[in-house]
Amino acid sequence: MAHSYVKYYSGGQWRETSSTFSDFNPADDTLWATVADAGSNETRTAIQNAHDGFGEWSQLPFTTRAEFMLKIAAEIERRKDDLVKSVQAEGGGWFGKGMHEAHALQEIFRAAAAASYGPVGEMLPSASGKFSMAMRKPLGVVAIISPWNVPALLSARQFSFPLVAGNTIVLKPSEETPFCGGLFFAEVCDAVGLPAGALNVVTCSRENVAAVGDELIENPLVKGIAFTGSTAVGRTIAAKAGAHLKKCCIELGGKDALIVCEDADLVRAAQLANFGSFMHQGQICMSVEKLLVHENVFEPFMKLFKQRASALKVGNPLQDNANVIGPLINDKQVNNVRTQIEDAVKKGATVELGGKISGRIVEPTILTGVKPDMLVYQNETFGPVAPVIPFKSDAEAITIANDTPYGLSSGVCTRDEHRGMEIAQALDTGMSHINCSPINDEANAPFGGAKSSGIGRYGGRWGVENFTETRWITIERGGKNIPPAF
Ligand code: NAD
Repeated sequence: MAHSYVKYYSGGQWRETSSTFSDFNPADDTLWATVADAGSNETRTAIQNAHDGFGEWSQLPFTTRAEFMLKIAAEIERRKDDLVKSVQAEGGGWFGKGMHEAHALQEIFRAAAAASYGPVGEMLPSASGKFSMAMRKPLGVVAIISPWNVPALLSARQFSFPLVAGNTIVLKPSEETPFCGGLFFAEVCDAVGLPAGALNVVTCSRENVAAVGDELIENPLVKGIAFTGSTAVGRTIAAKAGAHLKKCCIELGGKDALIVCEDADLVRAAQLANFGSFMHQGQICMSVEKLLVHENVFEPFMKLFKQRASALKVGNPLQDNANVIGPLINDKQVNNVRTQIEDAVKKGATVELGGKISGRIVEPTILTGVKPDMLVYQNETFGPVAPVIPFKSDAEAITIANDTPYGLSSGVCTRDEHRGMEIAQALDTGMSHINCSPINDEANAPFGGAKSSGIGRYGGRWGVENFTETRWITIERGGKNIPPAF
């Protein structure tokens, strides 16, 4: 029986919308849930409720706000099985991905609790002997727009740090994952007795996204915007936020490289390549989208990589927890991946493994002979496709890795840590991981991209800094001379 999530959550209450939309399981098109379809009116209500709740929430002792974060983490642990099931059913994710998400989520709320024990400002030296302070204060209402690919974790990463800093939140999850990315948190926060208006969740269909999105950005009560999603949509959100002079943090797509040097541990490198390219069907913003392998180890690496990739079990994740490769989220994504594979083959690439598409399931696919004129080289794929490109020198690997408008994350495999640092420092990415895949996320670390992969950072104190205002406050103590003419 399909779930019924026909109310949105605002001001601590579950409220009706005039219509609903259908949320399907991407693996088999069965109806997973019927969901509240909010429009701009409901969004305005949620923003007003968030604004009304700001006074109480921001004035609570920080220790009380931190305690709520810990209660949320404990409630998530209690509801873990529901979450994992819905990550599988709504998002087409592997069981192991759901388990990871459920655990990492809790870590985010614990890190948010810890972050609120940090300093909230600095003392400054003053030329006139003032007591001079730079102090942080919450902005007010912060709007959160999150994607479908790691829906619970990415929603939580966006709203937990602003929330614990004293802001109130209106969260709009993706229409592909309205429960895991949104209403799940409404249920959790309701259960732990979070004060009314601190977290509000509006869900809507694709048809209403533009109107709801505009309200979330343009409503004068909204003071900050956190967006995670595609570069195309992120650009328009950032432009609108700029027009309204609102603070925003925008995390977008990527074309991440994993560089395998000739001195790398090849077994580890092949495992990192397999995980980085195919985890969640390649639908992670930090997925490996260019695998650069030194020509001297190309053949042995390919052998190990193909062995590992061909052992990945493919199928509906809900039918068997061992199905690591499930469906892509929707037909649009499948068509994008199909177009990229066909374009590459037409222009001379070789399919070394996979390449078949059945419904929304795309086999883990390895390509060689990939050249800069191919779509798979230029564009984000967001599917289980790994182009493997040989290189001769570190300089060449760096040039190929940086040959993209994106700059999210990267990885370098080498036994020489000094060499790893030199390469990592030359890569134009917001994040780089030596002897690991580009896919890394820790709740206390600054997460974010460079170039067209976004602006701003989530995580730890950086997540707090984005959504607080720094104010300069002084106390005069007799040292400031005013011209006697006055
Ligand atoms: P998307 O841009 O289509 O949607 C993201 C969110 O924006 C969704 O909630 C969607 O409903 C909303 N949205 C769409 N149109 C809007 C509009 N006009 N106004 C306001 N909101 C609107 O992206 P997606 O398909 O959900 O996610 C996949 C993309 O996200 C990929 O490009 C991926 O690389 C990127 N991503 C980036 C990160 C990161 O941290 N950098 C993390 C995950 C995903």
